[in-house]
Amino acid sequence: MGIINAFLNWKSAYYEKKVAKMKEQGLCPDCRGRGYHASVANAYIYMPSFDYRCYSCNGSGAFTDWENVTH
Ligand SMILES: [Zn+2]
Repeated sequence: MGIINAFLNWKSAYYEKKVAKMKEQGLCPDCRGRGYHASVANAYIYMPSFDYRCYSCNGSGAFTDWENVTH
């Protein structure tokens, strides 16, 4: 699962900066307000059971929902 770890490492490196920026805009930091993960198009092939909808905000794309789910 090296790809997963690489993704998580990349994610954590930018996470705090991204969260602060997304909070200003009221958008979910994990999906940038889209409600789904755009990068999953490729990963989906290797992980058929992966839910591409953003689980952090339940697909709403709102920062408040992200905050409720993750905190
Ligand atoms: Zn989201």
